[in-house]
Amino acid sequence: MNEIHSNRTALVVGAGVAGLTAAALLRRHGWQVEAIERAPELRTGGYKVDARGAGVEVLRRLGLLDAARERACHVRAGSVVTAEGRTVAAMGGDTFGGRLGEDVELERGDLVRLLAEAAGPVRFGTQATGFTEGADGVRVRFSDGTEDTYAVVLGADGLHSATRGLAGIGSADAVHPLGHAIGVVTMPTSMGLTNEETTFVTAGRTALLYATATQPRARAMLLFTHDGPLPRDRPAQVAFLRERYADAGWRLPEILAALETADDVYLDAVAQVKLDRWSSGRVGLIGDAAACASPASGQGTTLALVTAYVTVAKLRATPDAVPDALHRAEAALRGFVDGNQKLGPSNLKRMVMGSEKAVTSTLTALRVLNALPFTDLMLGFVARALAKASAYELPEVRHV
Ligand SMILES: Cc1cc2nc3c(=O)[nH]c(=O)nc-3n(C[C@H](O)[C@H](O)[C@H](O)COP(=O)(O)OP(=O)(O)OC[C@H]3O[C@@H](n4cnc5c(N)ncnc54)[C@H](O)[C@@H]3O)c2cc1C
Repeated sequence: MNEIHSNRTALVVGAGVAGLTAAALLRRHGWQVEAIERAPELRTGGYKVDARGAGVEVLRRLGLLDAARERACHVRAGSVVTAEGRTVAAMGGDTFGGRLGEDVELERGDLVRLLAEAAGPVRFGTQATGFTEGADGVRVRFSDGTEDTYAVVLGADGLHSATRGLAGIGSADAVHPLGHAIGVVTMPTSMGLTNEETTFVTAGRTALLYATATQPRARAMLLFTHDGPLPRDRPAQVAFLRERYADAGWRLPEILAALETADDVYLDAVAQVKLDRWSSGRVGLIGDAAACASPASGQGTTLALVTAYVTVAKLRATPDAVPDALHRAEAALRGFVDGNQKLGPSNLKRMVMGSEKAVTSTLTALRVLNALPFTDLMLGFVARALAKASAYELPEVRHV
């Protein structure tokens, strides 16, 4: 057993965007970091994601912005189509994806890989099974039978965080479902698309498809109304999505066929995490574990980057007063997080229509709008709302 008694020791639970960002920053500030991940390897699935506003600034301060730009998707065109594939509205890729200025759009897997290079080693296939807080830190028991003590534990284990339960932060009802679910699957080919994204909307079910110029394959997202539990094992997930999107039209037969053979299928609830505190003693939460805003917000990446950055900045400022640093991080981030969480439910209403009547009137409005000049300018209200929510003054931190 490896005993650690220095007061600059950290355990980061979860190797997603939040955990890897925190691990990279802590190591840079001279902390001894253990990062664990439940999965046997990095989870690189998912649709494309956006770093906006302060999220871009975190990437810059990590020295990763240029590399992120090199891996950017450069999706240049977006369109809305009918079940028969006829284009109802076409716009620029940034308008479609709600991006402005320096915002960077990249595949979630590329961002995770980039952050992992900066974060250093991760212990895969490992979970924390118990915490005991003592005078010198948090004693952590791991699923492989080992134990260690850390000055701080950061739970970056996502929407369904186990750290929350182990540390007694919040309760099971911390997760607020928004009545929808999201599925993502990689297609075997580019589906004839290059640098573009297309969306198809039918009552209660939306499907999106994109392909970049650099990858010989497309990715599909299925976003649909759903209440209640979701299947966990792969065959049941595939059967569930097939049934849910049966007879939907458009390119759904190809997307559903890809589910059978794809390496990755991601399926989860569209939900938010709401907690009245993000820490207990020396255990703090970051990213989705603390305050998931849902994929519908479009802000999961930015929130993960910013909550990790600010939390590490506060720890760096007062490394000998960990609980206080965690409180100060939460206080500094609450307003920012609340503003971003508000985007989730309102974006969902635009992305998934409740009825065929709503679909028809939305498509008619889009058709009219698309016939007018300055379509991108008019539809840019989404990007402006996201830009406003992404603005946050990061604390200045001197890097070692
Ligand atoms: C495979 C995958 C695909 C995704 N696809 C999309 C998408 O297409 N669109 C979108 O908007 N959002 C997606 N998300 C969610 C998105 O990544 C987050 O909302 C956002 O990046 C915030 O990141 P996070 O690091 O807080 O959480 P996450 O990205 O969820 O990362 C949490 C990490 O913790 C690990 N973990 C979970 N429990 C434990 C545990 N008990 N012990 C150790 N490790 C644990 C997980 O395996 C995961 O690697 C996806 C998440 C995953 C894991």
